[in-house]
Amino acid sequence: MPDHLPVVVVGAGIAGLTLSLCLARAGVRVTVIDKAPELREVGAGLQLSPNASSILFHLGLGTALDATGLRPEAVTIRDGASGRLILRMPLGEAMVERYGAPYIVIHRADLQGTLLAAVEQEPRVTLHLGVNVTSVDETAAGVAVEGVEADQPVRFEGSVLVGADGVRSMVRENVVGGGPARYTGRTAWRATFEAEGFFAQSFRHNETGLWLGRHAHLVHYAIDAGREINLVAAIDDVWNEDGWDAPGDPAQIQAAFQDWPEPVRKLIAMPDIWRKWALCEAPRDTPWTKGRTVLIGDAVHGMPPFVAQGAAMAIEDARVLAGVLASDSGEDIEDRLRAFSEGRKARTDKVAAAARRNGVIYHLGGVPAKARNLGMRLIGAERLADNMDWIYGWRPVEG
Ligand SMILES: Cc1cc2nc3c(=O)[nH]c(=O)nc-3n(C[C@H](O)[C@H](O)[C@H](O)COP(=O)(O)OP(=O)(O)OC[C@H]3O[C@@H](n4cnc5c(N)ncnc54)[C@H](O)[C@@H]3O)c2cc1C
Repeated sequence: MPDHLPVVVVGAGIAGLTLSLCLARAGVRVTVIDKAPELREVGAGLQLSPNASSILFHLGLGTALDATGLRPEAVTIRDGASGRLILRMPLGEAMVERYGAPYIVIHRADLQGTLLAAVEQEPRVTLHLGVNVTSVDETAAGVAVEGVEADQPVRFEGSVLVGADGVRSMVRENVVGGGPARYTGRTAWRATFEAEGFFAQSFRHNETGLWLGRHAHLVHYAIDAGREINLVAAIDDVWNEDGWDAPGDPAQIQAAFQDWPEPVRKLIAMPDIWRKWALCEAPRDTPWTKGRTVLIGDAVHGMPPFVAQGAAMAIEDARVLAGVLASDSGEDIEDRLRAFSEGRKARTDKVAAAARRNGVIYHLGGVPAKARNLGMRLIGAERLADNMDWIYGWRPVEG
């Protein structure tokens, strides 16, 4: 970045930390601020497909990710009414051979912790936690963010402001002029439990499972290097509150799956503690940029997690934006931000549309569900894998 001021990033989630790391490695100073007083364990498991893992491995995080994550051998898709297998798609070595990077399942906190540890090694990054932003202004030199940190007023000046503050983004609503997050009518219930003993009797330990049923679906996979099982149950719902951490009543989620096959009921009965998360999207007409402010990650394209690509898109955004901001092309910064936005929007719109489509297909019941199962069997695992090439095979354009 030719400007002498740092880039100010609001939000130290997956998008903000990846961007900070990429920028620092490219020689750009960064001030990253988050409203959370500490970056503690929130969220549950994440699937990281090769388009995202390749970026993280390129940043030198591969060993840390493999230490806490897992490379599942396959994903098995089953019908939630009959319990029958629909298809099994190889992941593991097949992904590495096809894309040169692994498919990894990991706890979101482990991914965030890995990124944070790397960022903390970078003298060019200054991290401020527990900051309540009160105002954001454009100045002659760039941008100024004012806020309160530990009861003291603080002011951060920067060349560019990046809103990486999640699906309920303050920067989107107050600076860029986008609308509030839109509830999708689905709630994700998330829980983990100790793997030991359970999978030996029920499923293959190192496989990701996806069960499709009327008004709901269930995903399960191992995290914490195989020590824990992560469950995500998405149900049609009307509940809509903020946060990653609202408690869910186990009896309610057990009731939602009471007519499902026994293996599902056994899985759902395992955890004592459930958390729920209202699935929201960023408004589809959100502007990505205004002046020297730009949005990335869920702040601009928060989408339902039904192609498991929200964090992956945030990581891609971060990698591409870092290249744009670190470039010394001499081109006007606002023009560069606009060009970045147009390029990324085309891709993230397409991925979000695929996620919404899956949301409909996954929750079918009756005859349409039977047609879906038949269609998936006819397509087969190999062609299904081909259909993912445009997502998993993406790589940043160097230069
Ligand atoms: C149930 C579920 C399963 C998912 N599974 C997958 C998956 O398998 N694969 C995948 O790729 N994605 C998945 N996702 C999506 C993924 O979790 C998100 O897309 C990803 O976390 C977005 O990262 P982000 O950095 O944009 O936002 P976040 O991770 O939400 O981070 C935003 C950060 O901004 C901070 N912040 C918010 N407001 C302010 C403010 N006013 N001031 C300062 N800081 C602020 C927050 O504290 C937070 O640290 C899933 C999501 C859910 C809900």
